[in-house]
Amino acid sequence: MRYEGQIYRPPSEARSLILQATIGCSWNHCTYCDMYRDKTFRVRELDAVLEDVETAREQVGDVVDKVFVADGDGLIMGLDHWEPILEACRAAFPRLRRVSAYATAMNLLEKTPEELARLRELGLSLLYIGPESGDDVTLKKIAKGASFDDHVRAAEKAHAAGVKLSAIFLLGAGGVERSAEHAQGSANLAGAMDPRFVSLLTLTVIPGTPLGKQQDKGAFELPDQRSLLGELRTFVDEARPTDAIFRTNHASNYLPLAGRLPRDREKILEVVDAALRGGIALRPEWARGL
Ligand code: SF4
Repeated sequence: MRYEGQIYRPPSEARSLILQATIGCSWNHCTYCDMYRDKTFRVRELDAVLEDVETAREQVGDVVDKVFVADGDGLIMGLDHWEPILEACRAAFPRLRRVSAYATAMNLLEKTPEELARLRELGLSLLYIGPESGDDVTLKKIAKGASFDDHVRAAEKAHAAGVKLSAIFLLGAGGVERSAEHAQGSANLAGAMDPRFVSLLTLTVIPGTPLGKQQDKGAFELPDQRSLLGELRTFVDEARPTDAIFRTNHASNYLPLAGRLPRDREKILEVVDAALRGGIALRPEWARGL
């Protein structure tokens, strides 16, 4: 397999074959993100991607059961690339049961219902989408490029095509100033998008990013650890998905949690409350990751 630059994938794709079909992120404006700032976005040459599928088939073809299509918003690709890639994966990996990719709300909104249905039919069954916040003021400030309503419409399109969603929200994204609105809005959006999976990450301000520069100027202040736990509590208490697998197992979080919402709401809240009382050790700063 050949990869250009640093490769990022969700924690749940740790055992997947990573197939790099796009380079970078077509949006690349989110103020907190430095994942693809060193890459100029492009769709990778189809022949090279198909060669990588063939290489993987030769080396590990009978063990691959999941493929994650990188980079930052793989769904941006047109069907002229997606169709041959999905067909090649199906032919190469007899045990394949899932193909997934990162997507933005705009990626989904730009695809027609027919295109999304075709992608699902060919095996694209899960999209990771990171609204990060459900507070429109915060979404504007972090330059997410899509609003609360855009994310709801995007989710509706995915549901209509039968594509599962994994939605990601970012504790701290509203700063001290919008902390309460950010937590409540994110919970509201998690309910409105009704994803199959929902996870929370915790913001780390990276020096040199637009958010890092805002922080240097005093224009952004990250909530303290206790306030971040408070955002987590609000989210768990208020989010109303139908039945979502909930995780905070990403290395950025202070308190790893797992369960289902709404089924395990009370149990999860008990753990968060215990942490707020100081009864549970939080992940130390040195052990946190981006
Ligand atoms: S859409 Fe994702 S990858 Fe692209 S800039 Fe925003 S956070 Fe980074």
